[in-house]
Amino acid sequence: MSHKKYAIGVDMGGTYTKFGLVDDQGTITRAQQIRTDSYRSPEDFVAALSLHLQSIVDYHDQDHTITGIGIGAPNANYHTGTIDRAANLPWRTYIPLRDMVASAMNIKTVITNDAKAAALGEMQFGVAKGMKDFIVVTLGTGIGSGIVSNGQLIYGHDGMAGEVGHIIAKPNGRPCGCGRKGCLETYASATGILNTAQKIMLANNLVPFENSQAITDAAMMGNPMALEIFNQTGKVLGKVLAHVHTVISPEAIIFFGGLANARDYLLVPTQKAFEEELLFVYKERKPQFLISALQHRNAAILGAAALVF
Ligand SMILES: [Zn+2]
Repeated sequence: MSHKKYAIGVDMGGTYTKFGLVDDQGTITRAQQIRTDSYRSPEDFVAALSLHLQSIVDYHDQDHTITGIGIGAPNANYHTGTIDRAANLPWRTYIPLRDMVASAMNIKTVITNDAKAAALGEMQFGVAKGMKDFIVVTLGTGIGSGIVSNGQLIYGHDGMAGEVGHIIAKPNGRPCGCGRKGCLETYASATGILNTAQKIMLANNLVPFENSQAITDAAMMGNPMALEIFNQTGKVLGKVLAHVHTVISPEAIIFFGGLANARDYLLVPTQKAFEEELLFVYKERKPQFLISALQHRNAAILGAAALVF
């Protein structure tokens, strides 16, 4: 008889919610999904989700107990177990998601935001295995981060630590959704890089790129404009990360999310700017720059399950 542990990982997004049974080696089975935006209220959503999760529990071999349910969701707070007015969800209300799911399922449930779940997934199943100090930076529509220090994910006293995307990269720079100006997110997220691209392309009388993947594709073809866009983006990102480095001195900075698919096109200029800005005391033992190992492996489900393990 095996001694594997199991958890249910739930990746809740604005359009789809994906979930599956995960063992402690990171194998996902019984993966399913429902449309988040097809439910009129959080109550209807949790009722439907619970039915699906119950089918996983019922099907599961009774010899191996399920340790818990982990949920990664936008704006989710680990301490309070709630989601508060998440801009990316269909219902902009206060949702006590953890307790709703726990009482429907009668299984221990934990929730956190997607970037923190990604950091836990990387530590349990990915490139951060065995590391105690690292940062996962998620480069998606916005920028998130999960910071692990001395083997512990940093939540902060209110559960909101790690808002690296809202560090000011350029004073009085581009307006940010948070109401301030010049946040890193307005330059180095998928949205930010498109903005940069738009400026460069229009200045050169060229047709703007449709999305960030198109910039990556063009860079792979050697397009000088695309390379310049990554150059400028990397300069901003690298500089901010050098500041972040002074606070926690990580052994690795791990990139995750759509823009991380650009790999070296983004990472090389980022690392160059990072090293130029890095305080001299860190020059002997610089951190590694890595791409997530879970990038195309249902990372969010694995990360949510890692929350339980
Ligand atoms: Zn901001």
